[in-house]
Amino acid sequence: MTTAAAHGLGWPGPPDRTGAAAGGPGALGWPATPAPVAGDPAQPEAAAAAASDNGPEMPIARAARAALAARAGSGTWPRPRACRIITVANQKGGVGKTTTAVNLAASLSLYGLRVLVIDLDPQGNASTALDVDHHSGVVSVYNVLVEGQPLADVVRPAASIPQLYCAPATIDLAGAEIELVPLVARESRLVRALAGFDSTGFDYIFIDCPPSLGLLTVNALVAAPEVLIPIQCEYYALEGLEQLLRTVDLVRSHLNPALTVSTILLTMFDGRTRLASQVAEEVREHFGGIVLSAIIPRSVRVSEAPSYGQSVMTYDPGSNGAQAYVAAAKEMAYRQPPQP
Ligand code: ATP
Ligand code: MG
Repeated sequence: MTTAAAHGLGWPGPPDRTGAAAGGPGALGWPATPAPVAGDPAQPEAAAAAASDNGPEMPIARAARAALAARAGSGTWPRPRACRIITVANQKGGVGKTTTAVNLAASLSLYGLRVLVIDLDPQGNASTALDVDHHSGVVSVYNVLVEGQPLADVVRPAASIPQLYCAPATIDLAGAEIELVPLVARESRLVRALAGFDSTGFDYIFIDCPPSLGLLTVNALVAAPEVLIPIQCEYYALEGLEQLLRTVDLVRSHLNPALTVSTILLTMFDGRTRLASQVAEEVREHFGGIVLSAIIPRSVRVSEAPSYGQSVMTYDPGSNGAQAYVAAAKEMAYRQPPQP
């Protein structure tokens, strides 16, 4: 595996935010040293517990507090200086790309930020999770990429969270990989659409990629300065990662010099297995500070939420999965994005 440094990975350091909003980078924020999950990757809740200055808190109290906070939308996190555009990519299927894009986006908007999710996957899973109509024929990201329709035309509000928006994907997008081939600047269709989109009102744009390294994913990599890679805590997790990083390198050298892998999130962590801890350890060894301290546990509530057209934050805000996604989103909000 190529080293993180060779890929231009790494962060400039803790944020220097004066006037940061309520909360501040506590145990859930930027780790002064890369201390994984408040010391124990087998207990993702530990990060939440460590946030309290008043000693250990009972899990039920913590869950109730998290539920109340999410419902009330209490507190606001700092706005980035400019809209952060983050591509969520991993060509391996089912590692939690969509779940991560949707739940990070939902967490950020519950804490006062304005967020857009661009669904770039013909499966339309992010559109489903955000309860945005995406049956065939609806104007969607397909029309933007293939027909050059303005992105603003397809952006819709998500159902249950104010300040959260989605540019839906329909099944038509499945043909786009082929339809894009003869088009001019086929790798730059999305970045052009974003250039023509007034993103000043948005704080974050997440782009949810399909499980491939085809033209759709390349468009996403060209369009964003940041890549977030979700890595599932299981045996084959690191397979294919080198190919993804090579693609990132290629896109950086030919099409998008600003591109950086800014964030890695460990997903579907099963604390009962030693394997999950070993994978988490190995990922941290390779990638160091860009791996978020928060780890997303395997959680039934997380997997149930999309079938109700919801993020886990609104479906069950007190659940471990919701708390872990809020912790991960908070870390991102309090870290400075990499400098171009
Ligand atoms: P694809 O490559 O097909 O786009 P993906 O990488 O976007 O997949 P998801 O769709 O987010 O992955 O997740 C795959 C499956 O795992 C989904 O059924 C999802 O509900 C479930 N899942 C995701 N994260 C968790 C979690 N933390 N705990 C339990 N189930 C999860
Ligand atoms: Mg997906």
